[in-house]
Amino acid sequence: MTRGELPEWAPRVAQRDIRRLYEDDARGIHDDKLLDEVGYGLLARCESFIAAVEAARGRALCPRCGAVVEHGVHKEDLLQCPCGWELLWRDYFATIQHKQLSGAEPVLDLFQRYIRSFPHCVTAVQKMLAIDALIHGFHYFFKIGPTRPVAVNLIDGRLNEVIDFLDALTYGPQSTDGLSQKKQEWDEKIQTALSWRKSE
Ligand SMILES: [Zn+2]
Repeated sequence: MTRGELPEWAPRVAQRDIRRLYEDDARGIHDDKLLDEVGYGLLARCESFIAAVEAARGRALCPRCGAVVEHGVHKEDLLQCPCGWELLWRDYFATIQHKQLSGAEPVLDLFQRYIRSFPHCVTAVQKMLAIDALIHGFHYFFKIGPTRPVAVNLIDGRLNEVIDFLDALTYGPQSTDGLSQKKQEWDEKIQTALSWRKSE
């Protein structure tokens, strides 16, 4: 048995904060504080997601000092960091499982792009568009196309709840240009994703 510190993962963002962003936006209002809260909350979640995927591939981050610890992925493999931290892979992996923290390359690219770009957004419109593009992304499978909205990895709720949530976001004539168009594209992709799930 090992007693190392467990890694901590940023939580998914609350639906109510995102709902308010879209309600405000539809009225032509932008709350900078809320935009930053949601924007950086999503950024932290993207970082956790990427770190968890890397860990599952054998490159875990040490929760004590932040170093990369290369390791095997058998339950009994021991992760050991030069700083003295150690933990069984089984215990590390248990913190990742069932937390919506896994995905393949296209999702990692989408999240990495967001992590790089959001801190450079200056205006409220730029921030709104960056957040909107992120939460309307999809997991893709070769040949099948969009399979699952990435929002389930970023926003609190079960898959169906998150789909309904995105579907019910408020849009209006004053909404930021481009948002309604993104929603239309999302509507088309979600149909493909749902039909694929039914045939599963
Ligand atoms: Zn360490």
